[in-house]
Amino acid sequence: MKKLRVGWFTFTCCEDSTILLTELFNRHWQEWLKEIEFVHAKVLQSHNEMRDMDVAFVEGAIASYEQAAKLKQIRALSQKLVAIGACACISLPSSQRNTFDAAAKSEIAPFLLQFHQNEKVQTLSEIVTVDDTVQGCPMNEQAFLNVLNKYLKEFEIKSP
Ligand code: SF4
Repeated sequence: MKKLRVGWFTFTCCEDSTILLTELFNRHWQEWLKEIEFVHAKVLQSHNEMRDMDVAFVEGAIASYEQAAKLKQIRALSQKLVAIGACACISLPSSQRNTFDAAAKSEIAPFLLQFHQNEKVQTLSEIVTVDDTVQGCPMNEQAFLNVLNKYLKEFEIKSP
């Protein structure tokens, strides 16, 4: 039976939307088991693959060149990419250091170098095309379910 091939990815953030996803499984695992193939979701399984996906859900802001490269790889493998939560959509609160004053910025500069972090923390859409957003800090659960259901119908897993 055809399933929606889904990836769930996390970048710089507190991972609260990932926690909400696991909580949603309490109510939805029986239907999702039939409808969704998790190609990549480290919170759910130990075996994960970087291969073609119908929808990639991406949580967190982008804080390094390495993360930007991984995001571009996810975009290349996905038909649809959804930004999950405020950090992914508007970069805040993960990008607070973008607005530090000069003194604070010079204080953290050695740590940015040490941990290979970019000077500016970015939203997903500053780097790749984003098809949908789920706003909220953490994500709004109903908005996430609405987007997921939209793609279950669009990819003909569920009837309209
Ligand atoms: S949007 Fe809020 S809940 Fe989600 S990762 Fe960022 S800080 Fe955490």
